Amino acid sequence: MSEALQSRAATLVHLRGKTLKRGDSVPLPLTMASTFHAPGDSTGFHQYGRFSNPTWDAVEEMLAHLENAPCIGFPSGMAAIAAVYFTQLKAGDRILLPADGYPTGRGLAERYLGKLGVSFDTRPTATFLDGGFAGYRLVFIESPSNPALDICDIAAVAKAAHAEGAIVMADNTTMTPFGQRPLDLGVDILVAADTKAPNGHSDALFGHVASRDPDIIAAVKDWRQTSGSIPGAMDAWMLHRGLETLELRFERMCNTAEVLARRLKERKILQLVRYPGLEDDPSHNLARAQMDRFGFLISLVLASEEQAEDFINGCSLIQAATSFGSVHSSAERRTRRGDAVPPGFVRLAVGCEPAEELWAAIKASLDRLG
Ligand SMILES: *Cc1c(COP(=O)(O)O)cnc(C)c1O
Repeated sequence: MSEALQSRAATLVHLRGKTLKRGDSVPLPLTMASTFHAPGDSTGFHQYGRFSNPTWDAVEEMLAHLENAPCIGFPSGMAAIAAVYFTQLKAGDRILLPADGYPTGRGLAERYLGKLGVSFDTRPTATFLDGGFAGYRLVFIESPSNPALDICDIAAVAKAAHAEGAIVMADNTTMTPFGQRPLDLGVDILVAADTKAPNGHSDALFGHVASRDPDIIAAVKDWRQTSGSIPGAMDAWMLHRGLETLELRFERMCNTAEVLARRLKERKILQLVRYPGLEDDPSHNLARAQMDRFGFLISLVLASEEQAEDFINGCSLIQAATSFGSVHSSAERRTRRGDAVPPGFVRLAVGCEPAEELWAAIKASLDRLG
């Protein structure tokens, strides 16, 4: 981790402490309120729960500290992506989406933007620069792509897309601010699902938009207030707590993933193992150049759907579940979600279990398969 990031991690848990008055609670209070005491007609204080909430403010301050950019919180990662689409696009615009990224970003464009006169193309992440960016209003990247873990050169995409007048948005969910910093690489807008590692306990959904462009932040904030796409106060409070341990959990998860990926690569029963940290992975050189860590997701391909299910369900330390980034390791056969991957494709999300215990459980489940 860079020195700047280490310093940000260290000060993160003291942000609130710096503002305390005598007698204030050290932890963040949860404010559940639809309405606030608001006499007179001046502004600048909380008035109504769709406009603002002190618990959102506290979690947004933490997110902004990590992203080194203003952040606006949303009730989910998809709500953050929708906020960008609906504030930045107008009829006649064309946008470019990753063909192999999180599928709902494409679903939203396909089923709702088309009706409003916005069209889209898709392109595989591994060859994202090929074909240029002429004619696009918005270019959306996800690197590493979820679930195949291909990578594109974020700085090069941002530069080429800007030269064509496009704005560039990156989904940084798989990496978190501790693993990769797309805004520093030149993208205009960052979106992330804090539902995953930032919250980290599979018990709340949340998302955020980050940008260093004040007009974009103002538009996204107005969209939230106007559309009513607002996070719940309790979810914001839970994310606030989760963020306090993100660096600790993320380090453990990435360290363990590096160990496991190397060992999985040796197993003959796996037809393919993808992890950007493996020296011979097609993503490795770019990953080294633009990522701070290689992440905690590993892609595996087993011979069949049955074998993949057997592996997941027969492993005592893998939770069969969708999503990722939680304290427990989990895995999912991705054709279940309609991803364009082989039937035996498994996305393994490494959790916080001690590495050797986790490896023993994974090895035992693979050994059973033959
Ligand atoms: C989960 C996820 C999302 C959507 O987040 P929700 O909180 O489920 O709406 C978006 N992008 C990526 C890469 C994700 O993994």
